[in-house]
Amino acid sequence: MIEIGSLRVRLARAGVYWWDGGAFFGVVPKSLWNPLYPSDDQNRVPAGFNCYLIETGGLQVLIETGGGERHDAKSRERMNLPEGSGRVPVDAGSIDVVINSHLHWDHCGGNTLDGPHGAVPAFTKARYFAQRGELEHARERLVRDRVSYRDINYVPLIAGGQMVLLDGDAEVAPEIRMLVTPGHNRDMCIVLAKSKGETFCFWSDLIPTAPHVHQSWVAAFDLYPLTTIENKARLLDQAVRERWWCGFAHDPKIAFARIGKDSKGRFYIDEEAS
Ligand SMILES: [Zn+2]
Repeated sequence: MIEIGSLRVRLARAGVYWWDGGAFFGVVPKSLWNPLYPSDDQNRVPAGFNCYLIETGGLQVLIETGGGERHDAKSRERMNLPEGSGRVPVDAGSIDVVINSHLHWDHCGGNTLDGPHGAVPAFTKARYFAQRGELEHARERLVRDRVSYRDINYVPLIAGGQMVLLDGDAEVAPEIRMLVTPGHNRDMCIVLAKSKGETFCFWSDLIPTAPHVHQSWVAAFDLYPLTTIENKARLLDQAVRERWWCGFAHDPKIAFARIGKDSKGRFYIDEEAS
């Protein structure tokens, strides 16, 4: 747990899954990433379903809801995800605001649960926030990334009036903003929580794990890799200057990190907190 001004931020990891290392590190040679991020005998690397809980002005704000629990035996085996895991370890009834940085299943899979009459909100009293552009993209079901989208994670919330669709950057709770930051896809958001001169930044998939602070280390998933590189450089410079505490969407170990920049212009993890 860290304190950011008057906010309290903690990691609520909804489990760890294993995914192809090549997909995570794109064009980076395995000989470079593997020593930093060891893979198993199927070339899979561990990835957290990292969610963050922020307490702000009496409100409980949850960033992301993880991969959820709707996985058949085959996909659990493929991801080495134990049966029964996947739920966000928070008191669901206490959450006031849920932020979905984007609508890929591994970020909003815990948004809803299966009830006797269909999917119901997992966070009963929460208002959920997502970008309208992201929803429109999801609806296109493009060959490239349609496997990332599952209607059950958001359609019931829109139908029930519990999901607010945003048209760009927005403050979704006091001192907490969603910022559209393209790269991974067109409408993905990072989340900035700023209080009393301090900042927590949730990078989402702009920087999915700590080794991805290397500017050119971009996941093969990204639709716009050059945009990822530009946005990373710009925002990491600000993170270094202003000593932001940072959270990564999928790092399996690091909860919070501060970033440094060396004399050759390379970013690195300067400080960690749990
Ligand atoms: Zn992701």
